[in-house]
Amino acid sequence: MIQFHQVEKHYGHFHVLKNINLSVEEGEVVVVVGPSGSGKSTMLRCINRLETITSGLLTVNGVQIHDRKIDINRVRRDIGMVFQHFNLYPHKKVIDNITLAPIKVLGLSKAEAADTAMYYLEKVGIADKANAYPSQLSGGQQQRVAIARGLAMKPKIMLFDEPTSALDPEMVGEVLDVMKALAREGMTMVVVTHEMGFAREVADRVVFMDQGQILEESEPGAFFDRPQEERLKTFLGRLL
Ligand code: ADP
Ligand code: MG
Repeated sequence: MIQFHQVEKHYGHFHVLKNINLSVEEGEVVVVVGPSGSGKSTMLRCINRLETITSGLLTVNGVQIHDRKIDINRVRRDIGMVFQHFNLYPHKKVIDNITLAPIKVLGLSKAEAADTAMYYLEKVGIADKANAYPSQLSGGQQQRVAIARGLAMKPKIMLFDEPTSALDPEMVGEVLDVMKALAREGMTMVVVTHEMGFAREVADRVVFMDQGQILEESEPGAFFDRPQEERLKTFLGRLL
């Protein structure tokens, strides 16, 4: 579903991604961890071309995503993204936040889009907030709306960039539960997070990034219990 092959990226003179090689199969959950500034967000944003790459190949859902000849909007429809700061439209009701793209981009009727929105709001457990405004919701509820909004486009891939980092601790669980359910249903997911419990429980593979490189990649048992790289050992040690 996603394949990085020798991907490099520079911001001017700064070498932010170094020889990134990573494959994500359909239905896989890959969790990316690493220190702040290591390039996790940049790597994630390359997948839907929110960032360009300097060289290498990046194939997403069978398409060379950085080929200028492709229809990027067509490819992006299949890729949902959830950010740390929900990015909901503050002046639109919850339901309208969710129906906007399906109406505009997929061409659904208002009624169809509303049905779809309600289905996903039920799924994330906040159907009763359909007519509220984002500011009337808790952070955890807003993030669940953001996830429902992504799902309403029926994507093949969901990208999460620290979806719980801006939440009060008591709201982290409700968002992670939604993500766990999504993983169980077979969604292909790439998740940047500091939630090591989630990584251990849900990830098929965990990837450690440091200074623009993938230093280690393994299944959660090996990753947490038998880390190989010194820098990963130090990183995990700091979390204890
Ligand atoms: P992470 O998500 O792991 O914290 P980022 O991918 O956000 O890391 O950033 C990696 C590095 O690239 C950081 O040193 C950051 O300062 C730098 N960086 C991020 N975005 C830009 C940009 N638009 N221009 C220049 N440098 C950037
Ligand atoms: Mg980041």
